[in-house]
Amino acid sequence: MAKHPVPKKRMSRSARDTRRAHDALTAPTLVACSQCKEMKPPHQVCPHCGTYKGKEVLKIEA
Ligand SMILES: [Zn+2]
Repeated sequence: MAKHPVPKKRMSRSARDTRRAHDALTAPTLVACSQCKEMKPPHQVCPHCGTYKGKEVLKIEA
């Protein structure tokens, strides 16, 4: 006998769509690196040139 996942009442279109109002994914935020101008996430060391605020050099492989 099925128990839990069976809905007792059909949800209205309005209620269903209201729930889904928060479901949209947002594109990841990117900013241009001030050093190499590649796009990178803000507030993070650039994965392309390994710098942050013009210094803090990481070693970038290849
Ligand atoms: Zn960079």
